[in-house]
Amino acid sequence: MKIVLLGPPGSGKGTQAHLICEKYNLPHISTGDIFRANLAQGTELGKKAKEYMDKGALVPDDLTISIVVDRLSKDDCKDGFVFDGFPRNLAQAKKLDEMVTLDKAIMIHLDDEEIINRLSKRRMCKGCGNPTHLDWLVNGKCEKCGGDVYQREDDEESTIKSRLEKQKLPQDVIDFYKQKGIYEQITSTDTKEKTFILLDEILKKI
Ligand code: ADP
Ligand code: ZN
Repeated sequence: MKIVLLGPPGSGKGTQAHLICEKYNLPHISTGDIFRANLAQGTELGKKAKEYMDKGALVPDDLTISIVVDRLSKDDCKDGFVFDGFPRNLAQAKKLDEMVTLDKAIMIHLDDEEIINRLSKRRMCKGCGNPTHLDWLVNGKCEKCGGDVYQREDDEESTIKSRLEKQKLPQDVIDFYKQKGIYEQITSTDTKEKTFILLDEILKKI
């Protein structure tokens, strides 16, 4: 199962990617997570990426594509994977297309107003790495593993707005996948379980 999840920040892409990977036992490839891990480890890549991430801008394609090439070369990607946050433009989509044959590119749609509402309440878990939400926490801790949570710097409201403007997925990426006949769209619901049911309808047919 070779899947790309598309959608604005806050659409629940990351959460849904985790759910798919759990159910189908696939590696979750999040370029954002890889950049954040590099940042935390203080690597050269992390330092370069940080300049862009802090501004809510996209990291340049050469850097982004190089981490994807590297990740795809690992053994666990042989039978499938779920991409989350990649591709974000046509150059990235074409590059990925040269490397693998995707089964589906699935857009998780969400209106702008709802995006801002959700992102300002999003928290990340230090324990399991999952994105979570202020309303889901149990006694202020991750509802899944009980870990401490934190707010991502780029989830502060001023950065959210500039990310939405600078990072709107270009229509040409959508058209690219439509032309290949692998494009699907669902609308994000108010719960992750309901959204996953919609998503799984599509996955079951692969
Ligand atoms: P979001 O939750 O906003 O979708 P991600 O966790 O996917 O964000 O990514 C965080 C940041 O990492 C982005 O704002 C961007 O700077 C950088 N990034 C992640 N994926 C890509 C990509 N495919 N191309 C360029 N930059 C990326
Ligand atoms: Zn957790």
